[in-house]
Amino acid sequence: MNEKTWDKIHIRNLEVFGRHGVFPEENRLGQKFEVDADLYVPIREAGLNDDLTKSIHYGEVSHFIASFMTEHTFRLIEAAAEQMAEALLLRFPAMEKIRLEIRKPWAPIGLPLESVSVEIERGWHQAFVAVGSNLGERENYIQMGIEALKARKDCKVEQVSEIITTSPYGVTDQPDFLNGMIKMRTLLTPWELLKVLQETEQQAGRERSTHWGPRTLDLDIIFYDDQVIDARELQIPHPDMRNREFVLKPLAELAPYLRHPLFQKTVGQMLKELENADTAEK
Ligand code: ADP
Ligand code: MG
Repeated sequence: MNEKTWDKIHIRNLEVFGRHGVFPEENRLGQKFEVDADLYVPIREAGLNDDLTKSIHYGEVSHFIASFMTEHTFRLIEAAAEQMAEALLLRFPAMEKIRLEIRKPWAPIGLPLESVSVEIERGWHQAFVAVGSNLGERENYIQMGIEALKARKDCKVEQVSEIITTSPYGVTDQPDFLNGMIKMRTLLTPWELLKVLQETEQQAGRERSTHWGPRTLDLDIIFYDDQVIDARELQIPHPDMRNREFVLKPLAELAPYLRHPLFQKTVGQMLKELENADTAEK
């Protein structure tokens, strides 16, 4: 979906002091930890121009890691890794992704071992979220949905399409809809994003009654990178998108060349096919 960067900056074996552990002695005395980090950041421009401002300062990252590891106390190195990865991605916006390994060479388990470690990869993902409303103060509800995403530090709303008015789909004896599309980057997984969207719908007073029925706010994940998910509670790409002009039109405004990972068609192509089918029917 996005152009992926293969460029990386490696930090190896950074020795830091921390008090992470499940044993009280660990929290009291502290011990040595070792951190490896691969920072995924496009560095061609920095390389061509010999310009640090186009890259990420590995010294700053290393000090950030050292401070983070010392200033926080977690029971689990899983937690240290998870929260430090997020803190780093938020602090250094040019970083698209990070691989982080935290080793505990002196893990007190009563057996000799070289080290234990956890390794995670975390990064920004691109998502398209469709927003719709056909009940009450529709503009306000749409705005509420957008603002709820904007307010989160783990979501970055990049673009919002024009909001269009459309006749209802499926169940047709209900008020017209306002529909739009949100292009965003997020650190959330698809499931976490779904939960956030459903909570936002709830806050907008949405009552889950009839499928396709009237609603104050509807937020659907259309794409999440080029991932395909086929679970009962979550399907990505949204399964009915190719039949829904109110999804394809705002999406085509933002990303006409984006390709559906299963149909292998671009958004623009899908919209054209739907419009042609509609004219053929009439
Ligand atoms: P619709 O949006 O199709 O009109 P609802 O908003 O009432 O229907 O959502 C019904 C269910 O759809 C939700 O409980 C949710 O779990 C599920 N769902 C499946 N895939 C998605 C998706 N990509 N985005 C949002 N909800 C989804
Ligand atoms: Mg929905």
